[in-house]
Amino acid sequence: MTSFLAFANLCQKVEATSGSLEKIELVAAFLKDLDEAELPVACSYVMGSLFPPSLDLDLGVGPSILYEAIAKACGCQAAQVSDMLRATGDPGMVASAMVERRRPIGFAAFLGEKEAVPLSLKDVHDRFLSIARASGKRSQDTKVKNLQFLFSQASPLEARYIARLAIEDMRIGVGEGGVRDAVARAFSGSGASAENVERAYNLTNDMGLVAVAARRGTLGELSIMVNRPIKVMLAQIGESIPAAIGEIGTAAVEWKYDGARVQIHKDGDSVRIFSRRLENVTASLPEIVKAARQISAKSAILDGEAVAIGKDGRPMAFQEILKRFRRKYNVQTLAAKIPLRLFLFDLIYLDGKSLVDLPLTERRALLEQIAIASPDLLADQVMSGSVEESEEIYRRALLAGHEGLILKNPSSVYAPGKRGKNWLKIKPVMETLDLVVIGAKWGEGRRASLLGSYRLACRDQTTEELLDLGWVATGLTDEALAELTEMFSELIIVEKGMELEIKPAVIFEVAYEEIQHSPNYSSGYALRFPRMVAVRDDKSLDDADTLERVVSLYKGQRGRGKTA
Ligand code: AMP
Repeated sequence: MTSFLAFANLCQKVEATSGSLEKIELVAAFLKDLDEAELPVACSYVMGSLFPPSLDLDLGVGPSILYEAIAKACGCQAAQVSDMLRATGDPGMVASAMVERRRPIGFAAFLGEKEAVPLSLKDVHDRFLSIARASGKRSQDTKVKNLQFLFSQASPLEARYIARLAIEDMRIGVGEGGVRDAVARAFSGSGASAENVERAYNLTNDMGLVAVAARRGTLGELSIMVNRPIKVMLAQIGESIPAAIGEIGTAAVEWKYDGARVQIHKDGDSVRIFSRRLENVTASLPEIVKAARQISAKSAILDGEAVAIGKDGRPMAFQEILKRFRRKYNVQTLAAKIPLRLFLFDLIYLDGKSLVDLPLTERRALLEQIAIASPDLLADQVMSGSVEESEEIYRRALLAGHEGLILKNPSSVYAPGKRGKNWLKIKPVMETLDLVVIGAKWGEGRRASLLGSYRLACRDQTTEELLDLGWVATGLTDEALAELTEMFSELIIVEKGMELEIKPAVIFEVAYEEIQHSPNYSSGYALRFPRMVAVRDDKSLDDADTLERVVSLYKGQRGRGKTA
């Protein structure tokens, strides 16, 4: 049985190593020696995630529960913990320092256990499972107690990584791509390669499952399963309609609906809906569930867009749709105000078979067959190789209040998780950036209790580091700001005077007038006149724009600037 200390030692080494290849090698060597129950746990943990999305589990531990548990386990005051946090900015370091000073009579004695026994990787995971599964009135208490137990048993080094796992931010510089490569390397003897591991991961979205299959040499057998969300296929920005037609030839031309992505899993009468971030949003979207039941298939995975239709028949603002996706209570009341309509544009799986390797035209034909009784559910599609015709469709899409067009290659397969040339999106506006919120500032005067401006970062595509690009003030109403402030209150890591460090989890879509060079920010760039367009709850950290994209937009605007 692998000890948690061995895992913590690995994390410490990886954290101290700067080269990504070396990091991958260390992780690969560790994975090789684990048993089949430990392997999935270690794979998830290394990339800072506790459970695969198919388990639909959320730890439900905010910073306040974490700090309370540390304080209780170590016999110190919660204020001491928050003081130290202000000084270090790292919950992991604080946990380890507090454990170091822990009084000898810890929680183990309180529980009646003789003495602290070394934690195994499995013990820690079992505790995290109990924390995530705790529900009802006393759930807060159960969460604190379980964490408190872990901190009372842990050595300082173990405590560092337990705390970071609890907030799902490992800070060791290994992301999804790193673990993928480590799995491929660890089990190359059984036929694993970067390509087949990536394919299996994109189909199952469960690195643990993939790692076990890689070790057994059965990666090829992994496929899509109904009720297990898979990564969605994404669109690349097309330069213009003529360029897109030039690239694709005769294309499947569809409106780019102004809504939010839904992946629908239908299994008999049971329907589950996942958002673009693969969160289970079924309970929030009853009319989409009802619509999906009209599809005549025993089992199917459908891909589409949920659009909020206003009284005037036009799409409502994206923020309104997100309200629907977030709402857990009084869903029907909100559904009456913000009714959703479904537009299906793809079929990924049908009656026991994956369709990802079929060309789009065949997938669409099957989709039309199973929606024959309810054609209103289908997104319009026109096969066209004509620039004029496509431009006409584009004009109609904009007139109807939608975003533009997506031109799709009719012979393309469904590529989960890929943003490629087979789907080209055409939008009129200047491209916005999707950036991660990493900090915030309290407002002033009347707005002193509201978070009014936010520090933004892009991703470094190679190191997975977050690099800041400056601040955006939202320009929102007090009411909307209060909503945001509440949302971020669960994500505060440290408070330093007026400024807060925020756990990177929320994506803002930001518009701006220009990108400028700037020595003041770690990305080397700053946004001139940034404006917040939307909170992109539907996007996850992996969807945040990269420094590469910032640089390419920067260069693009230079070229345009000269001719303007
Ligand atoms: P973006 O969010 O700008 O990367 O654009 C891609 C998104 O457009 C997808 O994730 C869908 O949510 C949305 N979308 C709207 N209409 C379509 C369509 N006909 N085909 C594919 N995606 C669409």
